[in-house]
Amino acid sequence: MKAFESTRLYFERAADILKLPESLRKLLLTPEREVQVQIAVEMDDGRLETFIGYRVQHDCSRGPMKGGLRYHHDVDLDEVRALATLMTWKTAVVDLPYGGAKGGIAIDPRKMSVKELERVTRKFVDQIHDVIGPHKDIPAPDMGTGAREMAWFRNQFEKYHGFAPAVVTGKPAEDYGAVGREEATGRGVGILAYKMLGNLSRKPQQTRVALQGFGNVGSHAAKYLYESEYKVVAVGDHTASFYSPTGLDIPKMLKYTLANKGTLQGYPDAEKIGHDQLLELDVDLLIPAALGGVITSQNAAKIKAPLIIEAANAPIEPDADEILHAKGTTILPDILANAGGVTVSYFEWVQNLQFYKWGLNRVRQELEAVMTRAFEDVWAEARQHKVSLRTAAYMIAIRRVQRATEVGGMG
Ligand code: NAD
Repeated sequence: MKAFESTRLYFERAADILKLPESLRKLLLTPEREVQVQIAVEMDDGRLETFIGYRVQHDCSRGPMKGGLRYHHDVDLDEVRALATLMTWKTAVVDLPYGGAKGGIAIDPRKMSVKELERVTRKFVDQIHDVIGPHKDIPAPDMGTGAREMAWFRNQFEKYHGFAPAVVTGKPAEDYGAVGREEATGRGVGILAYKMLGNLSRKPQQTRVALQGFGNVGSHAAKYLYESEYKVVAVGDHTASFYSPTGLDIPKMLKYTLANKGTLQGYPDAEKIGHDQLLELDVDLLIPAALGGVITSQNAAKIKAPLIIEAANAPIEPDADEILHAKGTTILPDILANAGGVTVSYFEWVQNLQFYKWGLNRVRQELEAVMTRAFEDVWAEARQHKVSLRTAAYMIAIRRVQRATEVGGMG
């Protein structure tokens, strides 16, 4: 299923329960602006190469639009549009004063030099600087981009518009970035796991967790869960997956990856298992924190975990979601589960606008407050309407965007 279709399906399901008028559905399913630009740059060998860049701005009724910038060879308009829409619902469900956007360039950053990447980033800014800005649309890192690209982005934007650190988030911490941004998404997942298990009267010590992905999100989530005394029994990345029934030594694994080019390959102190096996383990909580579409109609029936937290974006395909729902699996949806990142991005933007720097403790406390409130809203909505947490999250998000649209007027 194409990315936009699955977002639309979840939207329609919630919109039906909310009895959202057809006119508003059409409005909320139509991005406000879609920009496609030519990025022509000189490569290191003197060749002229032309790439395509996209920025989709979905909705700005609740505030400036916010969303990442992805560098990946598979980037296309459909994917960027789906991710922009998802950002509208994500920022609304955690109640940040933002709308949703997303951008991307169809390149393979691993096959380009640093200089080439810099030229591509600066050319992209040349092409879109008029439609973005601290009060319009604020990009951030996503797959294939990081603090380095954000620093180039800001610098190029400032050539046109003057000093404006708030034009992007995810900047280097020492240069108007926020402390605690790197850990934020994984930490948010950990905070939500704690809240969800608490509501189900389960204790961390009795909870066996399997976690797919040991990158930014997965490793920080694993660290938080380990420190909160969960039994993290399985962890895997693209190179290898490992299992220990008594619980893995997460600090040791983190240390191992640091000395092993960031991967778990060859980790000696646990049993090696297959990637598919990790997803199908008999555990209490499964956290897919790597790729989209890893739970499909093919393997959904084999998933034994009664609880799943979608740390990655769209790790469960819609038909698999139905199978799991019918089995009684409780799924904490991506639009809430991985919103810790955009929440701390929002804190970075606030600090930039105020020329004021928060310490790590404040960032962590405010993150916990935002995630807790959002979780409680979604949990209560699901109970009240007897719907899944996913539908409840979409209902809250759509209702907030609907209200902002109506209050703001549509003339
Ligand atoms: P990352 O690149 O830092 O890490 C990805 C991890 O997934 C790596 O450990 C990689 O080895 C692993 N992986 C890749 N293919 C795999 C496979 N076939 N089997 C098992 N593991 C595999 O990425 P990230 O920033 O941690 O993002 C992970 C997911 O979370 C993505 O879906 C991303 O869109 C989503 N997300 C990230 C953030 C953020 O702040 N980083 C915010 C919201 C959503």
